[in-house]
Amino acid sequence: PVVGGKARAVSKSAKLANVCYDIRGPVLERAKQMEDEGQRIMKLNIGNVAHFGLMPPEEIVQDMIHNLPDTAGYTDSKGLFAPRKAIMHYSQEKGISGVTIDDIYLGNGASELIVMSMNALLNPGDEVLLPAPDYPLYTGAVALSGGTPVHYVCDEASDWMPDIADMRQKITPNTRAIVIINPNNPTGALYPREVLEQIVQLAREHQLIVFADEIYDKTLYDDAEHVSIASLADDVLFLTFNGLSKNYRACGYRSGWMIVSGEKRHARDYIEGLNMLASMRLCANTPGQLAIQTALGGYQSIKDLVAPGGRLRRQRDLAYELLTAIPGVTCVKPKAALYLFPRLDPKMYPIADDQQFILELLEAERVLLVQGTGFNWKSPDHFRVVFLPHEDDLREAIGRIARFLEGYRKR
Ligand code: PLP
Repeated sequence: PVVGGKARAVSKSAKLANVCYDIRGPVLERAKQMEDEGQRIMKLNIGNVAHFGLMPPEEIVQDMIHNLPDTAGYTDSKGLFAPRKAIMHYSQEKGISGVTIDDIYLGNGASELIVMSMNALLNPGDEVLLPAPDYPLYTGAVALSGGTPVHYVCDEASDWMPDIADMRQKITPNTRAIVIINPNNPTGALYPREVLEQIVQLAREHQLIVFADEIYDKTLYDDAEHVSIASLADDVLFLTFNGLSKNYRACGYRSGWMIVSGEKRHARDYIEGLNMLASMRLCANTPGQLAIQTALGGYQSIKDLVAPGGRLRRQRDLAYELLTAIPGVTCVKPKAALYLFPRLDPKMYPIADDQQFILELLEAERVLLVQGTGFNWKSPDHFRVVFLPHEDDLREAIGRIARFLEGYRKR
């Protein structure tokens, strides 16, 4: 803008200094540019499920169409009664006790509620323990809220389990909360009860809140079972996040929820803050809210996709086989979710800057991935692969990655 004849630069706020979200960062910008130039990019970068022909159950789509004419109004800030009731039943099924309608908040995707829950909690100097690697929204949300993200390591050598000793060692008097992403994005790890119990014990000892992201809790392979950490105690405060984006393949409907459970009595002030922020954004989109009870009460079609012979299961197996057949590439086989997080042997692939590496792959082979450091993984030796494309496309894309890596070794 020109003020008094002089142009004044418009800068972003200082709050954004430590905020980043590389999944949609500079490499994606370059990919878009290439597409505008007419190139076809193979996108293994974003868990945008419906984009790969994995559509939401028809029952949900038809309900959305049916409900649309009556959903033009705002709702209660926390959300409509019927979907919250359905979520209450779902939390009972998962063994989370003492959840009332009042403890359930609907959001425009889980993302909105994740940011809200951090904003309502954190003061400058407050620390939140986050996994490394993480889903980077958490690191961004903590930083945006004025808090300090502190990463605990997940251990690749033990199937990407959280390193409890590291977690313990990073707790300070300023630590307010622990975030766990279970099932995990980007590693595909699924935490057994014993690991969750240790985390609950730490939270109990140090009076920490547990934020549990369970958005992939039905996307499970090999007959795995998901345990909600909030079902393991009622003397710790839990905020559990979930939604329709992944298990019901409806990312674009922007429909998520948050359940507050456990030790709520001492959190009245925080809950008041959550209610205020929920009111300020008025409400979650109404059509998306109404899809929830249809989804939770309907046929759980994700089971067909993850069962032996199911599309997601076949794609996971194929992507895993093809990637681990590349010299110097190792990977923990995912037990859940939609991603692989392979490691490149640094001796064979001496990468200094993994964003540059991913950009070179894009330019050379027109395959789009996200670099490991985009998930707050410290060393430049990992990348994330989304295994949503059909088998033929996965074969083609991973073939191109293998060819690029072969060239890289010969440099
Ligand atoms: N949490 C995790 C772990 C995710 O992977 C994602 C999306 O990829 C989200 C939350 C975002 O969910 P929503 O679409 O409900 O905002």
